[in-house]
Amino acid sequence: MKARLWQFFFLFYAFASIENIFAEESKKNIKDIKEQNIMSVLYQQTAAERMAGSLQTFKLAKQAIDKALADPSWSALPGQNTRDKKPAIIVDVDETVLDNTAYEARMILNGTSYPEGWIRWCKEAVATEVPGAKDFLNYAALKGITIFYVTNRVFQLKEATKKNLSNLGIPWDQAKDTILMRGENNWNSDKGPRRALVGSEYRVLIMVGDNLGDFVDAKENNLIASKRKNIVKDYTDYWGVKWFMLQNVAYGDWEGALYNFDYSLSPEEVHKTRIKSLDPQGN
Ligand SMILES: [Mg+2]
Repeated sequence: MKARLWQFFFLFYAFASIENIFAEESKKNIKDIKEQNIMSVLYQQTAAERMAGSLQTFKLAKQAIDKALADPSWSALPGQNTRDKKPAIIVDVDETVLDNTAYEARMILNGTSYPEGWIRWCKEAVATEVPGAKDFLNYAALKGITIFYVTNRVFQLKEATKKNLSNLGIPWDQAKDTILMRGENNWNSDKGPRRALVGSEYRVLIMVGDNLGDFVDAKENNLIASKRKNIVKDYTDYWGVKWFMLQNVAYGDWEGALYNFDYSLSPEEVHKTRIKSLDPQGN
């Protein structure tokens, strides 16, 4: 009897610890995936090189504004009719003007993934400035150019976004609606319709973003990695002239493209896809 009781306890503890191992394992997997972001987030947050690249991009964008103002036929929207239109620029918000890498760092440290904690983070309104953004935007405002912020932050974050911009001394138009959010007017994450709306009234001088979708429509953005590169080639005359791309190595549709934009993959599948996407031949 005593022996059977011991056997029972032994089996009970054995099963209990196996269950613990599995629970630990699945938690570890999500954390592991986030931990793969450590170097990317460190680059965004600490690299002098990232700062220099960002300042360089905004300096070129400033010079482009001067050229664009002097040439009434100049437009950053392909095929736009510019006649009698007031000048505007279109900029993205996250990782173009507002730096959310503190949120990225939190996810790594907490072992959580987007969108957990995102709304809360945005409502804190403490994102810092992407280096050079403030100076660039103040320059545009001083020249009388209307600045449109076209962002895929959800509508409920509109006030928090304004507050964050104001906290940093970044200008936004108090008189008209120039912060165009996802979810407003049935807008989805495709920024094309919002660019078209701005373009119906304004001559768009330049555009600044950190994601291909900040420049081209979803049908060109939501493609596999190699095809997205072909889209970049299609617009070769725009880059560094009318379109300015900031580097965001922490996240973006470049990553979604690896998974065919399927965000339901398990951490294991994500990891396997990442490994499979590495190219040891350098093709
Ligand atoms: Mg962005």
